Amino acid sequence: MTDSVPGSGPEEPQCSARGCRAAAVWALRWNNPKIHTQDRRKVWFACEEHRESLSAFLGRRDFLKDVVPVADRDAPPEDAG
Ligand SMILES: [Zn+2]
Repeated sequence: MTDSVPGSGPEEPQCSARGCRAAAVWALRWNNPKIHTQDRRKVWFACEEHRESLSAFLGRRDFLKDVVPVADRDAPPEDAG
């Protein structure tokens, strides 16, 4: 058994808030229509504490698309269809 390869485990994203090193709980998916194509998604990560301030920051600029649990960050957006 020699499976001690560093960095091969599941990635644990950290909160994107400045100075915060908490493990991310939420993924904030956003898009700036001035610099991104419409289907492009940037992702910020947020811990429980910073979810509100980070999403408010993006929401004020109309950039925020959706907020999902970190585990679902690559999932397609919900479609109520
Ligand atoms: Zn944080």
